[in-house]
Amino acid sequence: MKYIDEFRDPDQARILLQRITKLADQVASLRSTPLQIMEFCGGHTHTVFRYGIEQVIPKSIELVHGPGCPVCVLPREAVDHCVAIAERPDVIMTTFGDAMRVPGSRKNLLQAKAEGADVRMVYSPLDALSIARNSPDKEVVFFALGFETTMPSTALTLQQAYGERLQNFSVLCHHVTTPPVLTEILQDNQLQLDGFIAPGHVAMIIGEQPFQFVACDYGKPLVISGFEPVDVLQAMLMLLTQIHQGRSQVENQYLRVVRQSGNASAQLALCEVFEIGEKVTIRDRYAPFDAMVRFAGHCQSDALPESISEPSYCAEVLKGRIRPLQCPLFGKHCSPSDPQGALMVSSEGACAAYYQYGKAEAMAEI
Ligand code: SF4
Repeated sequence: MKYIDEFRDPDQARILLQRITKLADQVASLRSTPLQIMEFCGGHTHTVFRYGIEQVIPKSIELVHGPGCPVCVLPREAVDHCVAIAERPDVIMTTFGDAMRVPGSRKNLLQAKAEGADVRMVYSPLDALSIARNSPDKEVVFFALGFETTMPSTALTLQQAYGERLQNFSVLCHHVTTPPVLTEILQDNQLQLDGFIAPGHVAMIIGEQPFQFVACDYGKPLVISGFEPVDVLQAMLMLLTQIHQGRSQVENQYLRVVRQSGNASAQLALCEVFEIGEKVTIRDRYAPFDAMVRFAGHCQSDALPESISEPSYCAEVLKGRIRPLQCPLFGKHCSPSDPQGALMVSSEGACAAYYQYGKAEAMAEI
């Protein structure tokens, strides 16, 4: 199969591994600590586990699992807003499956559904739009989350709702962009990362330029990578080559998908619909479709229960300061069937990856 088999080819992987080992030995001989490489995206973390990459790379390379999962970076307050709106009798709340299980301060959306709220899982915001067309007597809200990868589909849906002048559709926007999350990691003094493997699907939309600050301002090499095992190994080799040569640049391993300037039409839709700064908000023109505006009384913190904070371990894992196995709740009080944090809920979460692919060894260690 074109573009899959060749990127899972064991011979290719072996050749790359030999080159990685040779280069890692040379770099390791010049330093006393292991090289720390962060795979920002949960998709890469899953590839690392699924194909046993962590077990075969040299010990002088330490992979640090990053926060790159939109469900994992969702604050508890966001779920609280969503539950508060969903509990209104005139509302149909729609969202992706993972988002329904993320804990809020009081409950998650699935629990709200069990108690009678009309919460429905959808595969895309367009599904939510069609529910709105078919339910004119209800307020249909789409709980939107995700990085730049999912933002274009929310933007196009809002443009469509605007064009149709739909009166009963709105979006609760909790999209996040990648650069501020990366900046937070780079500014963390406790982390001494040597390089980043960056998410190919995000770069497919935004291109290479938005990652340049990592190399220019922080002097760290970054390689945009695909998600197959050969992609990840190749990205690792590209990073090691930069480190060995004392370079810090943004390079693109995922050339078969990512263009240097990204996807122009998706960027146009994003700019028209969203105000993108530290936070992502819906522009004034689309305010009638902004659930934060439409349900303002339900989105204020005094309308919410007293916040119960996320277990502090989650933030530590999110920032790569500790590994999931170092969380005392892992596997005992926190599992995919009874998650205490979003990292155990999401299919891309680091804790879920450890649980799914490393459960046997993990359980032996705790
Ligand atoms: S095991 Fe659970 S509580 Fe611990 S860091 Fe992971 S998600 Fe958070």
